[in-house]
Amino acid sequence: MTKTIGNIIEIYSHNNKKDPNLKKDIIKIKRAWEFALLAHQNQKRLSGEDYIMHCARTSYYLSVMNLDVETICAGLLHDVTEETEFTIKDIANEFGEDVAKIVEGDTKIGKIHYTGEERYAENLRKMFIAISEDIRVILVRFADRIDNLRTLQYHKTEEKKKRIALESLEIYAPIAGRLGMYKIKERLEDLSFKYVYPEEYIWTLKEIRSHIEERARSLTKTKKNIIKLLKKNKISFIKIYGRKKRYYPLYQKLLRKNRDIERIYDLIALRIITKTKEDCYTVLGLIHNNWQPLNGRVKDYILRPKPNDYQSLHTTIFNEDHNPIEIQIRTEEMDTFAEFGIASHWIYKENYKIDLHDKKYQWISELINWQKKIKNNKDYLKNIKLNDMFKTKIFVLTPKNDVIELLEKSTPIDFAYHIHSDVGNRCVGARVNNKIVKLDCELKNGDIIEILIDKKRNTPNPEWLNFVKTHSAEEKIKHALQKSGVNIITNFKEKISQRITNWKNSK
Ligand code: MN
Repeated sequence: MTKTIGNIIEIYSHNNKKDPNLKKDIIKIKRAWEFALLAHQNQKRLSGEDYIMHCARTSYYLSVMNLDVETICAGLLHDVTEETEFTIKDIANEFGEDVAKIVEGDTKIGKIHYTGEERYAENLRKMFIAISEDIRVILVRFADRIDNLRTLQYHKTEEKKKRIALESLEIYAPIAGRLGMYKIKERLEDLSFKYVYPEEYIWTLKEIRSHIEERARSLTKTKKNIIKLLKKNKISFIKIYGRKKRYYPLYQKLLRKNRDIERIYDLIALRIITKTKEDCYTVLGLIHNNWQPLNGRVKDYILRPKPNDYQSLHTTIFNEDHNPIEIQIRTEEMDTFAEFGIASHWIYKENYKIDLHDKKYQWISELINWQKKIKNNKDYLKNIKLNDMFKTKIFVLTPKNDVIELLEKSTPIDFAYHIHSDVGNRCVGARVNNKIVKLDCELKNGDIIEILIDKKRNTPNPEWLNFVKTHSAEEKIKHALQKSGVNIITNFKEKISQRITNWKNSK
């Protein structure tokens, strides 16, 4: 895929038609292109192509994400300080502090000297620091990584290919997901899966081929019938389309379901993009009246968005051929957000024609206010401290490097119950980053946690209820205690009042 400065400017101009600074911005982008061209002259990529082609694709991808002029310039210049004689100071002089800072942040993430688990934790830590300092650094990093994965076959050693792919799969992709950037998450996973788990990749492909084809055929029928149903009820919609589940999430799900493909209900999903939020619910009702929904599979992420702000209605129905099909219903705004997450804040600037004073549409007003803030404050992007977004969440790791999301201030006990009730109930100790810790210690981003268990033990310590942070851990402890007949007294105050009550009753 060849991209040139012409492609980048075309997209940028289209996205910023009304911006009075457009001309100035284009000149800046062209200058960045010329600078990069000069800096990388005579350099080749492992594939043999001119180095600048990689910079062009990285920057092009950022322009597709509708990012600002600084980010697009940084995309062109991101490898200049690493690969050529030019310095951050040169970039700052030519393109300003902002561009220089993004390039510098990107370069910093790249420099990791550890190996094994230390490398992993260090990598994660650097990503979080970069995110909290300027979200644009991570966006350049994602674009750069996607292009590197696309050309991964040119790396000489299998080991290096695998390391880059693994890092993408286990660090970059989950972070993209947390930021709601599903499109980027999917690309990273699609490109890495076959390098990290080649056998599983082939297995997944083989396993699902016939199932996917069969369900795709039967989906076409359902799609036609849904369109008919919506027309009959005079509900206009923006689009409706089928979507195959991506291989990597599918593989992960198969592992959780004993590799039984029959238990995967969202192998193929049908997406309905409506004009309004109200229509989402109307469409859901109509579908449930006409096809039998699978019990317990309705999820209202509009009322309760996912922590990354993803919104949509999900349901699973049995269609004409008695195949389970997942249906996802959402508005165009929600759909854009689902693809680009945090980067979609620049899209849809003033396209609402609904009565915003109507209480029902309050959420839209909020969205618009939110966007006004962004529009009036060009520094918004710079100032989004992702630390705020992560405030209530932390990411920690299992010894096998699985990333686990927990509430801030969670303890090893919360972690143990998150893994499995049995792990929690049998927990007798914990190691954090290879050091034995107290079970009530607070976990931090990037910690690697190992739970020590005693297989003979199956009753949790009631004292744990005094410090666990997650609701689910609390529920699981209470459940296990009740099962083994332990009286739950959660804290000292309660203990005292219990004693007083006992004493009174005995009088
Ligand atoms: Mn690069």
